[in-house]
Amino acid sequence: MSSTSPSRLFSEVPFETDGKHTGFIRLFNSVHESAFGFIPIPIVVVRNGEGPTALLVSGNHGDEYEGQVALCNLARGLSPDRISGRVIITPMANFPAGKAGLRTSPIDGGNLNRAFPGDPSGSVTEQIAYFYETVLVPMSDYICDLHSGGSSLMYVPSTLTVRPSDPAKLGPLLGMLKAFGAPYGYVSAGGNGTGGESSLWGAAERCGKLAINTELGGAGSVHAGGLRIGCRGINNLLVHAGILPQEDFIPVDRPTRLLELKGPDYYVYATEDGIFEPLVEPGDEVISGQAAGRIHSPETPWLEPTISYFQREGIVMCKRIPGRTKRGDCLFHLASELPSGA
Ligand code: CA
Repeated sequence: MSSTSPSRLFSEVPFETDGKHTGFIRLFNSVHESAFGFIPIPIVVVRNGEGPTALLVSGNHGDEYEGQVALCNLARGLSPDRISGRVIITPMANFPAGKAGLRTSPIDGGNLNRAFPGDPSGSVTEQIAYFYETVLVPMSDYICDLHSGGSSLMYVPSTLTVRPSDPAKLGPLLGMLKAFGAPYGYVSAGGNGTGGESSLWGAAERCGKLAINTELGGAGSVHAGGLRIGCRGINNLLVHAGILPQEDFIPVDRPTRLLELKGPDYYVYATEDGIFEPLVEPGDEVISGQAAGRIHSPETPWLEPTISYFQREGIVMCKRIPGRTKRGDCLFHLASELPSGA
């Protein structure tokens, strides 16, 4: 990869013209059915004069829907007269995955949030990552990537960011978590397969931008409560950024509880193949040594189920959804109180 090569993707919509502009990012993909055709990644740009830019993304994982619905609502409802600056909305970042209702692209198997910084001449997913890395992220000040648990996980509605390499950036990132106003907001140490540098958050980190994510629900469906929190959170984040006026702030019933997610002991995995019976739910508080789930073996029904335990105390952020489970699947992860001044 050469980071100096321009992206091959082309935006139909202008970024520097006032008003609301709707259309597609064209990703040319010459295939058997379509020699000169393009993959149409939808984009809405709303701009009014000078000011900060917010980049709002969903469908990074195609089977995570609350953010996609929230950004459809915003794309229709946001008026340029109301804002100062610019809002860039891309509700189906990994468009082929979104169309298929899959986490990863059916074209190249690519997981967009593990494909950064991407490659201008790489696979379809790598080309999308490169467009965000070199075009959309550099023109943005505030980035919010709206995730949920996908088909395999269900989250308590929450926001997160990754601990930045520059400690001075943590305060502004916590400010974004608090502004979004989800019940929980956590600072992840990264690792444990969660992406880090290869995620859109990593692109923002490389570019010196502020980025948070959400986990609004999951289970391959639309969680109504998570969607409401997401719509309110996006609005209040735009107020926080100074893009929407202060009078548009929507009150939040209780402030975000700030948490952190650190090492491997925050995760519980299946240790056998079988049927997963959860013993706790997202939002529950647990103690170290508490039983988390049982794995049953109907193939050998006289065997005792295998029990997985929490290795530390914390709040359950998510649980695995499919009953059928194999060794190595993530069943739960925790977050714990963020020490003040951390
Ligand atoms: Ca996700």
